[in-house]
Amino acid sequence: MGGGAPITVQSMTTTKTADVDGTLAQVYALAGAGADIVRITCNEVEAAQGLAEIVPRSPVPIIADIHYQYRLALAAIEAGVQGLRLNPGNIRKEDQIKTVAREAKDRGLPIRVGVNAGSLDKDLLEKHGGPIPKALVESALIEIRYLEEVDFTDIKISVKHSNVGSMVESYRLLADTVDYPLHLGVTEAGPPPAGLIKSVAGIATLLNEGIGDTIRFSLTADPVEEAKAGRQLLEFLGLRERKGLDLIACPSCGRAEVDVIEVATRAQEVLEAENLPIQVAVMGCVVNGPGEAREADIGIAAGRGRGHLFIKGQVVRVVPEEEMVAALLEEARRLVEEGVEARLADADAGAADAAESDRLQLLEIKGDANRAEERRAAVAEVATGD
Ligand code: SF4
Repeated sequence: MGGGAPITVQSMTTTKTADVDGTLAQVYALAGAGADIVRITCNEVEAAQGLAEIVPRSPVPIIADIHYQYRLALAAIEAGVQGLRLNPGNIRKEDQIKTVAREAKDRGLPIRVGVNAGSLDKDLLEKHGGPIPKALVESALIEIRYLEEVDFTDIKISVKHSNVGSMVESYRLLADTVDYPLHLGVTEAGPPPAGLIKSVAGIATLLNEGIGDTIRFSLTADPVEEAKAGRQLLEFLGLRERKGLDLIACPSCGRAEVDVIEVATRAQEVLEAENLPIQVAVMGCVVNGPGEAREADIGIAAGRGRGHLFIKGQVVRVVPEEEMVAALLEEARRLVEEGVEARLADADAGAADAAESDRLQLLEIKGDANRAEERRAAVAEVATGD
């Protein structure tokens, strides 16, 4: 982590750790949704026992989340976890922190110094008058000093705040002060969609400034949603390669020839289930649709009760409105199997003409005679080579 490695996505299980099968099922679901690392609470002896069974069967590295009892950190290390998260706000004794660090160092395990505005050390709260960015960073620096004093430097740091502005400011201050990898997150962001918006606002702002090495969305939702959102954010920012669907859909307007929201929602459902690494566009009309989605791998634009299906902006097929979603799915599978060149070579003769004719008719129906005339002239010019 850090030093130019890809930015990773984290999430945390919500099951009781002692429930080994239930926790493992969630770990697998999180990994499938895009989590590179999963954190699991180690809050009691039974949890540490559960970790000993979970870690060897997990598809991704497991981090034990430790609060209050340093002995549970030692038990988690014994259980074989790949890293620890310590909260400086509630494990405060220097000798205990150093004991954990020595054990972690012997096993080559990283420690995240996980500061949280909601559980900040009470002395720091009094000193700063509240969980302000300076207080969060000072808490991290105190813990880092303890770790460095025993030669422990495999450190990651987070300074999470539930207020987006304070979170951003805390991480900026931290990034100016230390050189360790940073774990980004807006803590207790709440349920989607507001929780998603807060998380994206904070995390994306920092990533765009080059700050951050791993991220977590802390949503009040199924953690699979966290993993999915984290992965998507990195893909949309171009920081990770696209692994799944990128659906582009127009917002619809008075020109729409179908119920765009319905078609796009159904298309998203069926295409997400296939998990194809593909960009798909769903556009409500043929007037602007193909042009707006030219960059997509595959798209469909509605026109006069039928869908014009296009690959990389070229119309290859025309389908009845009720078959639009099924056709998108079929073409997406075909495109992934055969590739763009082969699919374009097999385009339906006449599909492009049908789409053009629909476009002209729609322009005329909607009273845009000038644009229809311009299109006709442009097409004639291309056809005659003028
Ligand atoms: S693609 Fe057509 S229906 Fe969709 S927003 Fe654009 S003009 Fe409106």
